[in-house]
Amino acid sequence: MQFFARAALVAAFALPLTGIASAAPEPPFNFDTTYGNLPKDVVPRAYTISVTPDPDHLALKGSETVRIEVRKPTKTVVFNALNLTFSRASVDGVPATVVPDDKTQRATLTAGKILQPGMHSLALTYAGKMETSGQGLFRQPYLGADGKQHVMISTQFESTDARRMFPCWDEPAFRAVYTLSATLPAAWSAVSNMPVASRVVHGATATTTFQPSEKMASYLVVLSAGDLKSISDVDANGTRHEVWATNGYEEEGRYALANSKQILEAYDAYFGIKFPPPKLSSIAVPGGFSGAMENWGGITYNDQILLLGKSGTLGQKEEIYSVQAHEMAHQWFGDLVTMSWWDDLWLNESFASWMSARQTNLANPTWLWWQDQDGDKEGAMSADAEITSHPIQTHVTDELQAEAAFDPAITYSKGQAFLRMTEAYLGPDTFRSGIRLYMQNRKFSNATATDLWIALSKASGKDVAAYANGWIGQAGFPLVSVTATCDATGNRTIALHQERFLISGISDPAKTVWNIPVGIASGSGASTYTMVSAPDQTGIPAGSCNEPLRANAGDIGFYRVAYDAQTLATNTKAFGTLPDDDKIAMLDDQWALTLAGKTDLKTYLALANAMGSDHDTRAWTQIVGSLGTIERDERNKPGHAAFTAYARTLVHPLFDSLGWDAKPDDAPPVRTLRNRVIGALGQWGDPGIIAEAKKRFAAFVADRSTLTPDEQNVVLGIVGTYADQATFDQIHAFAKAAKNQTEAERYYFALEGAKDPTLAEQGMEIAISSEIPPQAANSVPGMVFSNVDWNPSLAYAFGKAHGKQVFKAFTGMDMVFLALFVPPAFADAAPLDDVQAWVTSLVPPGSDAYIQRGMSSAKLRLQLKSRIVEQADSAMSFSRS
Ligand SMILES: [Zn+2]
Repeated sequence: MQFFARAALVAAFALPLTGIASAAPEPPFNFDTTYGNLPKDVVPRAYTISVTPDPDHLALKGSETVRIEVRKPTKTVVFNALNLTFSRASVDGVPATVVPDDKTQRATLTAGKILQPGMHSLALTYAGKMETSGQGLFRQPYLGADGKQHVMISTQFESTDARRMFPCWDEPAFRAVYTLSATLPAAWSAVSNMPVASRVVHGATATTTFQPSEKMASYLVVLSAGDLKSISDVDANGTRHEVWATNGYEEEGRYALANSKQILEAYDAYFGIKFPPPKLSSIAVPGGFSGAMENWGGITYNDQILLLGKSGTLGQKEEIYSVQAHEMAHQWFGDLVTMSWWDDLWLNESFASWMSARQTNLANPTWLWWQDQDGDKEGAMSADAEITSHPIQTHVTDELQAEAAFDPAITYSKGQAFLRMTEAYLGPDTFRSGIRLYMQNRKFSNATATDLWIALSKASGKDVAAYANGWIGQAGFPLVSVTATCDATGNRTIALHQERFLISGISDPAKTVWNIPVGIASGSGASTYTMVSAPDQTGIPAGSCNEPLRANAGDIGFYRVAYDAQTLATNTKAFGTLPDDDKIAMLDDQWALTLAGKTDLKTYLALANAMGSDHDTRAWTQIVGSLGTIERDERNKPGHAAFTAYARTLVHPLFDSLGWDAKPDDAPPVRTLRNRVIGALGQWGDPGIIAEAKKRFAAFVADRSTLTPDEQNVVLGIVGTYADQATFDQIHAFAKAAKNQTEAERYYFALEGAKDPTLAEQGMEIAISSEIPPQAANSVPGMVFSNVDWNPSLAYAFGKAHGKQVFKAFTGMDMVFLALFVPPAFADAAPLDDVQAWVTSLVPPGSDAYIQRGMSSAKLRLQLKSRIVEQADSAMSFSRS
């Protein structure tokens, strides 16, 4: 699963360290002993489910027969159900009673007689509710291609919401076969995990029955239906690929359809096990939720990350490809082999994230995707550098914790980076052999991390568990300090010291140690790995003292490096000659060390100034991002003007060489870089850039063909920031007249984030108005909070006054995350106790631990802000002297 609203909103957050120094390794998967809240004495083998949704009344009716295996004599059968009422129940035709309990989300059936071990047939007739946001079976209103209001229905079951549509054993270890049928308006199409087996029309309605599914977990069942149309194709291995969209938008699925074929063929080959279902549908849902969900054979996507219209940008193409690659990786990691329990959610999400990055990079080499992913890695490291961070693997006991386990920074991005480091350390071929073995061993079943270590150890001959458990079982990551010594002939020997890196600057009270595969390279030489397992390791040969040293060669490791002063000076001098990946790693590390108060900002600025004519997009994005942080933190402070002038001077030569207009031979990342540099200079008040953006906007008003969609984004961003009322009204008119959602969102976002408080207020009012189509409801929080940048107090007051409207599309899962991102985002917008009270009023009960983490991040944010302002002022007076 992937969430975009959340990823976009989350600033930096983490879960509490509960004194875990190292996690006890878990045993391989065993159904009987794996954690869960349902008894294992009754096991479902096959479900036959018939549902009749009634979206007009937000209701549903259902009947279900479950083939159950009773493993020891019992009179009671416990399963999950939520918001369901039961009108009839029987076992083997003998009437039974069912008592549901919505508090525990479980129902208890008492049979008419004792059930003996063996197979039995459980029959239930029930009624339930449909939801209005992506949780269970939900109703999705949308504005169609015909300009009219329509309704479709879809499902979102992960983690624990299948129980809202049908009674089930809703835990990942209870795999079963699902045969689903749905009675719906006859004019509608219905899509599920498997192809349609039969369709019977009865007047105005039709009952569609799908073929029995693979044996799978309940959270992977899908049903989407409405006025939908599809395009399709068959791949080289015989799998049928479909893209479904609301009527009139199906042709915008061509890009996704081609990707789907390419990615599945690559994955069939990588895993050595062909995709099991006969078809793979990609279903574009207009709204409902903001990400995508990997239901086996029927992946659902928010339509904005599946469909690519004429006004699509390069960024959207990249996002569509990488999200497809993520969800399709789940067809193996998650669907074919499922985590035993939510503790091991990382087996799903870290792997899908890593596999997606790997595939996106391989298939689109000009995108430099691994460099782009360094941004995600930095996001993970910044969250994981807080004392309150949590391990990749965390114990989950209830539904709320299962939801909160989907932590984008740690479960997704840190996990992805850890796997990339592991692949590089074991070697890609060995790693793939281990993955294939794991898939073979665990297919159509479940797994724990230990099952994976067993397979990787067998493939590599190394004790992978010993290396890996510290990375998934401990919070945080190490700082590796390098001290070089040179002998008389100039040969370099290095000593390495490891200690947990904490951004607050304190030293780790737990003295955590990792097994770190440190990739060392001297000069232009290749890297070699040294496994550092102790706090200190000495006597490592590392080339010649007059050459630069890279101690995280290729930017592959999940650790930071601090070089001794002499080595840093050598590296800074040779910075222009280093490979881009290493420049990126050094910029990241030197910036983080500055934030942590472990070095002087001047050492970072020296690297930034040494970029010269290098146009690497990620390296410059890192620089522009860091300078942007300082610029924001300096606002309303005496040093703001001096620093902003400095930042503009540092970046302007890059803009001079890129110019405003794309060149035909620009690689895709260069196009991205140009927009970022122009956007940053605009943000920093560069008069020439602002004037040119206004000029280009005026030309665009006269002739809408003068700017490509990518150029519109950057011009609208600057013009929107410095808008006057007339400009604001012009953009607003464009928004209202937009022909499709992609275009509309581009204009509506440009109405947010104006410097002028009156316009900022107007923008926020528009964001919560009925002008925003229902399918864009998930974008509303992002729109409103764009105003935090220039008008933090105003955005805070608005959010507080209109929280219900702002977050109306958020599900329970999203709301838990608000506790983590809201406090740091508003740390300097309002008194912290006021922020805490507001957050507490927003989030579901039981979220106290998350609120505490959010508040801890807010305090840290203020601490880092004062530290960085002090550093910047000192560096500026130095550069003036
Ligand atoms: Zn996922």
